[in-house]
Amino acid sequence: MKLLLHSCCGPCTTYPLHFYRAQGYSVGGLYFNPNIYPEEEEIKRWETYADWAEKNHLPATRIYTPHDEWLGAVSHDLSKPARCKECYLFRLKEAARFAKEEGYDCFSTTLLVSPYQDHKGIIEAMGIASRESGIPFVYNDLRRGYLRCRQMARGYHMYMQKYCGCEFSKGGE
Ligand code: SF4
Repeated sequence: MKLLLHSCCGPCTTYPLHFYRAQGYSVGGLYFNPNIYPEEEEIKRWETYADWAEKNHLPATRIYTPHDEWLGAVSHDLSKPARCKECYLFRLKEAARFAKEEGYDCFSTTLLVSPYQDHKGIIEAMGIASRESGIPFVYNDLRRGYLRCRQMARGYHMYMQKYCGCEFSKGGE
């Protein structure tokens, strides 16, 4: 079965990739994160992810969309958790659309590995994206692998960012 794994960054992809491969999935990676600000940071995270993906034989695609488009999609309510729910939806709708277009059987996201994200909000967004695109999503609570992610990322000497991604999280919101 072909699984498209939406990746928020390299470090958070380490454990999920091994987990899904161990389950027998043939995994492809998608980096679509227009939430990340500023653009140099988005590029830095992509390069970290792409370099690691190549070393681990993970075919990886980056879709670039200007940050302003993401900002427009989330701006009707910039408070949390509303902003994060729209952020998940924006990214996962594109992941589902891409998965369908590229002939994958299903999709998922590395966001599910983080204990700092709104886990329920991510599941809701995956459900909406799945219904809209007509492609199933795969859910696993990967938070138990979060510390393993950190260990693996350190082992690979990967860049590990200090904030979630958007300008609001950069400022501590
Ligand atoms: S804090 Fe993270 S999940 Fe929430 S809107 Fe910002 S980038 Fe998206």
